[in-house]
Amino acid sequence: MSTLLQHQAKFSGSIATPAPIPLREVMPWALFGGLMMLLAIYFVGVEEGALSVFAGSYVHEYVHDARHLLGFPCH
Ligand SMILES: [Zn+2]
Repeated sequence: MSTLLQHQAKFSGSIATPAPIPLREVMPWALFGGLMMLLAIYFVGVEEGALSVFAGSYVHEYVHDARHLLGFPCH
């Protein structure tokens, strides 16, 4: 028996395998995370002007650097 086969035989029972996560359990968290990311993209990229949710330019100024980093048109 070669050294590699001896190694595989010795450690084959101790290799940890990841537990499968059912899609039914992942889907609510994936939807929640996607919604949060869409909300973040909205506030970084679109929240300003006549359609703004919050009056004034507080949100725009707060995320201004992220806005330029992501390439949204600004000024
Ligand atoms: Zn700007």
